[in-house]
Amino acid sequence: MKKYAMMVLGCKVNDYEAHYLKEQLDKDYTEVKFNEEADIYIVFSCCVTNIAESKTRKFIHRIKKEHPNAYTVVIGCYVQSKHDDEVFKDVDLLVGSSHKDKIKEYIDKMVKADLYEKDITPKFEELFMADYKGKTRSFLKIQDGCDQYCAYCIIPYARGHERSGDFYKLIDQAKRLSEHSKEIVLTGIHTGRYHDGDHDLAELISELSKIDDLETIRLSSIEITEINDKIIKEMKEGKLAHHLHIPVQAGSDDILKAMYRPYTIKEFLDKIEDIRKEIPDILISTDLIVGFPGETDELFARTIDFIKEANLSFIHCFPYAKKDGTKASLSKDQIPGDIKKARAQKVAEVQKDITEKIWSSYIGKKVTVLTEVYKDGFTSGHSKEYLPISIMAKIDSGKMVNVKIINTKSGRMIGEVSEDVVE
Ligand code: SF4
Repeated sequence: MKKYAMMVLGCKVNDYEAHYLKEQLDKDYTEVKFNEEADIYIVFSCCVTNIAESKTRKFIHRIKKEHPNAYTVVIGCYVQSKHDDEVFKDVDLLVGSSHKDKIKEYIDKMVKADLYEKDITPKFEELFMADYKGKTRSFLKIQDGCDQYCAYCIIPYARGHERSGDFYKLIDQAKRLSEHSKEIVLTGIHTGRYHDGDHDLAELISELSKIDDLETIRLSSIEITEINDKIIKEMKEGKLAHHLHIPVQAGSDDILKAMYRPYTIKEFLDKIEDIRKEIPDILISTDLIVGFPGETDELFARTIDFIKEANLSFIHCFPYAKKDGTKASLSKDQIPGDIKKARAQKVAEVQKDITEKIWSSYIGKKVTVLTEVYKDGFTSGHSKEYLPISIMAKIDSGKMVNVKIINTKSGRMIGEVSEDVVE
């Protein structure tokens, strides 16, 4: 059997697609570690930042240097956005943002006949797998592509136009996944825009909530403008987790406008207040970019005010990274690296206090946790509100457990099994 090794860079969608490919390849090939000898080396590329691009190039160079006789396969966003890059000169198989359902077929043909294929037209690829191996929660890709063209983002160029999965096929796939996982995370590039004919995201969640074995449905993220009454109803009555990751990206209207984000800070805050009225135990987290071109000290101060007012459970804060090919990269008002770094540190400091207060408010309360890994006397996991919990017991992964929070310490919430293991 020929051997393959895989390196996956970038986002959850790449991770999902790589798992799908592994499942296909494992029928006829043997997987080895990336630093071992293989016949085929596969890189799932990413172009979301210049650093991600440079990592992609680095891995391709490494394969060519260390394994000159092996086949090299490069897949994904970087291929789609820069398929004329010199680095691809000696790559045997390039696949961009579509035809991912055919990669195994291409590899088979390539191994037999050195076939070279190149991606041309995007369509939604189902990439359904029998089991999302090695994960306590399963991921289901429901949507791909984006038509929003935020000023800092290369994704619309890399992954193409928005497209969604077939409603009924997704339900069938979720049923299969629920045989192995209690929780399914619905992923996509712009998940809130899921749309298949008359079926929208809320309807998909409603149908998935009817699957008996499934305990929790989670959204990888959703835009504030896409949260409507139907989605809130699914949190109240269906199985949609009481946690939403809503990327705000900037804390002032001026920067939101420069980023082409379609809302104001007031609209964002009003909306989360409305959601909290309906779902009092909801936790909301966000992504935030600091040091976007033109962000003055005053605009950054507004960002800090926003963070204090929003009271979010966590913030993924990124210093702005200039991305070639995007509108923002052409701006003359780039912010120096040391200022961007200092601003990201300030956000982390302010948010730390907020997160700690939220965590402390859970002491004595009960949460339901999906268990992940046991290590050093604790089983880690995440609650339905996506709180990181360390349970003082050894529990198999993938179980739903009721846990009472007893303390918060060293960046984690400590809990004990409160009563019965749910399942
Ligand atoms: S919504 Fe904006 S940030 Fe998100 S993928 Fe689309 S262009 Fe990028």
